[in-house]
Amino acid sequence: MSVIGVLALQGAVREHIRSIEATGATAVEIKRKEQLDEIDGLILPGGESTTMRRLIDSYCFFDAIREFGGQGKPIFGTCAGLILMASHIEGRTGGHLGLMHMTVARNAFGRQVASFEANLNVKHIGDDVNAVFIRAPYIVTADSDVDVLTTYDNRIVAAKQGHYLCTAFHPELTDDNRLIAYFAGMVEQSEQALASS
Ligand code: GLN
Repeated sequence: MSVIGVLALQGAVREHIRSIEATGATAVEIKRKEQLDEIDGLILPGGESTTMRRLIDSYCFFDAIREFGGQGKPIFGTCAGLILMASHIEGRTGGHLGLMHMTVARNAFGRQVASFEANLNVKHIGDDVNAVFIRAPYIVTADSDVDVLTTYDNRIVAAKQGHYLCTAFHPELTDDNRLIAYFAGMVEQSEQALASS
């Protein structure tokens, strides 16, 4: 059975743990980089990306997460997690983990309308996916190897690049578990591929 970790330095950790468990996979809170050796897939939760980056550096996670992804192990970033995964961030030189070939804008829907919900049709997932946006980013541009999964208001808010998945919204805050289940499927597939290689 797959073991999926949630980076537990800051942010919406508990909700992800509950959603992972609902898919039948085992969920683990990741607080030390050594724990990455024990998991098959990793979720970077929502929170505050600048703070999370600082904690990633303080706890020596930076290279460890990039190596985890480099081994072909799936990573799913939600909201602040999406920002961490991007190669470029508007208004900043360089990205953070730089795993996905895309430029993102932070707090892109305005600080005043800080949060809202929408029902979106998401490629590979289905119709009417309940999406909760909280001070959400969006993907401004993406390279051709990035599969755009959905848009809201003509802005890209979910994407996949090989074994990397990201959403600008918070699937873990709803009862709609399809995105987490889809990620759990990606993790299972990568486990099989890595076992037979
Ligand atoms: N706006 C936050 C950031 O820049 C992300 C918000 C969230 O994760 N809900 O990190």
